[in-house]
Amino acid sequence: MSHIVVLGAGVIGLSSALQIQSQGHQVTIIARDFPGPFETVDPRLQIDYTSPWGGAHNRWVPPTNATEEREHAMALRTFARMRELCRNYPAAGITFMPGIEYLEAPSPAYQELNAEKAKILGMEGFRLLKPAELPDDKVKMGFEYNSWCVNPMVYCSFLLRRFGYLGGKVVKKEVRSPVEIFEMRESGRVDAVINASGIGFGDPDVFITRGQTCLVANLCPATVTRQNADGSWSFSVPRNFDGGTIIGGTKEPNNWDPNPSPEVRAALLQNFAGTYPQILAKDNEYQVIADIVGRRPTRKNGMRLEKELTGDGKCIIHAYGPGGRGYELSWGVSEAVAGLLSGHLGLASQNQRPKL
Ligand SMILES: Cc1cc2nc3c(=O)[nH]c(=O)nc-3n(C[C@H](O)[C@H](O)[C@H](O)COP(=O)(O)OP(=O)(O)OC[C@H]3O[C@@H](n4cnc5c(N)ncnc54)[C@H](O)[C@@H]3O)c2cc1C
Repeated sequence: MSHIVVLGAGVIGLSSALQIQSQGHQVTIIARDFPGPFETVDPRLQIDYTSPWGGAHNRWVPPTNATEEREHAMALRTFARMRELCRNYPAAGITFMPGIEYLEAPSPAYQELNAEKAKILGMEGFRLLKPAELPDDKVKMGFEYNSWCVNPMVYCSFLLRRFGYLGGKVVKKEVRSPVEIFEMRESGRVDAVINASGIGFGDPDVFITRGQTCLVANLCPATVTRQNADGSWSFSVPRNFDGGTIIGGTKEPNNWDPNPSPEVRAALLQNFAGTYPQILAKDNEYQVIADIVGRRPTRKNGMRLEKELTGDGKCIIHAYGPGGRGYELSWGVSEAVAGLLSGHLGLASQNQRPKL
């Protein structure tokens, strides 16, 4: 049995660990941060662990280039796996609900969307909204489809618990390099390391995209996203499982400020209520729980998903840099990682065979 170490316990590391485990390997997760009861933690204390601070929902992006095609294929795989998990594990933190999108200035890829095109793209339950269903005159196009969202705290804890139940081991430790893991006594023999560290180690193509959101107790029956003509956003992601609803809208590359801005909070809440007033239905006001700032681990031209062999033949499979789509892509990524690993172990065992 091979021993594989997954470096990282975000949504990418946890999904990959479970996928590799299902192939019959012994798996250890080594990470600085693990899932916990994050609603009660100041986000600034674990800002470089992105998974607790994500929305997190599925929002389809009509693909227009090779990177988006690859991501779309992974999002479809994730959609199917989320449906299976939701059915088999009702307490996993997953909810299926309508995904509603409003666009002020739809790009050609969006303008081409109709029921036929959406079917080809696998966007289940797609329906164009009628003009009377749009929130205001600025919105030129709207549609809805079946989507899912997760409560990240519940979902990531579920993945970790399941991993442990199935015999996985965890080590809480910060490392300087994935290579270090091959030398760690507590790791034992290591056949490969999966680098699911979010931002990688010194990759010049990686940067962070800051996102400020506000967690409110108000319930929302759909995930709602509005893309404005000036490039700004407004969105809600219900978390359910007593997790409230995330109201968001900022995407700021290379902004390292960990502090939430009260002015931004006010604008986010006001903009969203303007688009989707139903959010205030109960008391005609928001019940604010917390401000959140997260750092999306973003990489130019998409995630790094590839095998690297070090000079002395150690295998590292990189799976980092999912940007704002880590949850959406997670199971597709885990399957790609498992495929790269199987390819490597198959080759390795061929090389170890005695020559006849
Ligand atoms: C505001 C906001 C909204 C978002 N909304 C969505 C959404 O709706 N849908 C969606 O799909 N995604 C969304 N995202 C993005 C999503 O949250 C991320 O893509 C995802 O969480 C990244 O997961 P990860 O596993 O790659 O990284 P992380 O969650 O950051 O995990 C990295 C892991 O590696 C470990 N690690 C890193 N370095 C070391 C080291 N040196 N030694 C040991 N361990 C190390 C960390 O401790 C951690 O365990 C959102 C993000 C933000 C901020």
